[in-house]
Amino acid sequence: MPAITENAIRQLAGFRAEQAEVVSCYLDVDGRRYLRHQDYERELQVLLRRAQENANGSRSVATDLHRIEDFVKAGVDRSSTRGLAMFACGAHGLWEAFTLPVPVRSHVSVGPSPAVGQLEAILQDSERLGVLLCDKQRARMFVFELGELVDHSELFEELPRDYDERGEQDRGDTQHHVAALTSQHVRHAARVAFDVFQGSGFERLTIGAPDEICHLLEAELHPYLKERLAGRITVSASAPMGDIRGAARQVEVRVERETEARAVDRLREAVHGNGKGAAGLDKVLTALNERRVDRLLVSQGFSDPGWRCQQCGALARVGPTCPVCGSDLARVDDVVEEAIEEALAQSCRIEICIDNADLDVLGRVGALLRY
Ligand SMILES: [Zn+2]
Repeated sequence: MPAITENAIRQLAGFRAEQAEVVSCYLDVDGRRYLRHQDYERELQVLLRRAQENANGSRSVATDLHRIEDFVKAGVDRSSTRGLAMFACGAHGLWEAFTLPVPVRSHVSVGPSPAVGQLEAILQDSERLGVLLCDKQRARMFVFELGELVDHSELFEELPRDYDERGEQDRGDTQHHVAALTSQHVRHAARVAFDVFQGSGFERLTIGAPDEICHLLEAELHPYLKERLAGRITVSASAPMGDIRGAARQVEVRVERETEARAVDRLREAVHGNGKGAAGLDKVLTALNERRVDRLLVSQGFSDPGWRCQQCGALARVGPTCPVCGSDLARVDDVVEEAIEEALAQSCRIEICIDNADLDVLGRVGALLRY
C-alpha cells in the first residue's frame, strides 16, 4: 500500500487518460459509523450504481467500478484503516489504493484524471505526533504521521547491577545515587526527544512514563516541546509496537476533535460577532462564489442536492437561475461535495468535523471568511 506523500499525490495528479476515463473513489469505512462490513459495502453499492448510470455505458468505467468493488469486498483491516481512496483506469494500467488512518468523505467521480483533492487535504492537515516513552533506564522516541512511523530513537542507560545486593548501611547512599542517576537519565531522555524534534519535527508530543518520571521529564523538556504537550498515554517503555501505535492513534483522534472544536468555536464567534463567518449552505455557497472563504467546515456525512452554473461555475442550493451571471443552472446530486471541491480549488483549508453538535446547529456547514 503506497504511503501518502506529496510525491505520490503529485504523480497521481499528473496522470492523464487519453482514451478512457479515470474512476476515483473515496470510501468512509470508519468503524464507529459503520459497525458492520455490510454497512459501508451498501454505501459503496449506491455510489457505484450512480457512477455506472452516469457513465453512458462505458465498458472501461464499468470494469474499473468492478475492480473497486472487488477490492473493498476482499476486506479492510479496520483496526488501522478509517478511509479508502482508490483510483482506477484499467485501459491505461492505473490502479492505486490508499488505506487511510483518517476518515474520508465517501464519493465516486469519473474524469480525465484522478480526483486527488481529498488526499491533498488529508496530507495538508496531517500533524506529526511525537511519542516519548520513558522509565528509569530506557527512553524511546517515536514520530508518527498518518499512522506511519517516520522516526525512531532509543536510549538505554543501565543502573549499576550490584545495587540490590548491598547491605542495610549502604542503602541510604544507594537511594540517593539512584535518584541522581534517574534524574540524569530523564535529562538525557528529554535531550533525545529534542534531537528527534530537530531532525523530524512534530506538532504534538505525548508521554508514556510512570508518574514520578513523567513529572521530572515534563520539567526537563525544552520549551518548544513543553508547548507541544498533548497529554499522557498509559504505555510502558517496553510495550510492543502495536500498543504504541494504537495509543498514538488515540491521541491523534483526540487532537483532531480538539482542532475541529476550536474551528467551530471560531466560526460561532465569527457568525455572531465580526461578520467574518458564514453558517448554513446558502451563505457558504455565496461566500465560495465570491471567493471569500478561508476555511470550510463541514459535518461528516452532510450532503444535499443543489445546482452548479455551467457558464461561471457558481454553486447554488436553489435553481434554476445562476445568482451570479443569470445563466441556467444544472442540477448536481451533492452540492456539498461540489463546495468541497471548489474550496480545494481555491486553496481553502477544509475541516470535516465529526460528531460536532455545535456545527450541526449552525447548519452542518460553515466558513471562516477572509473578509
Ligand atoms: Zn453563472
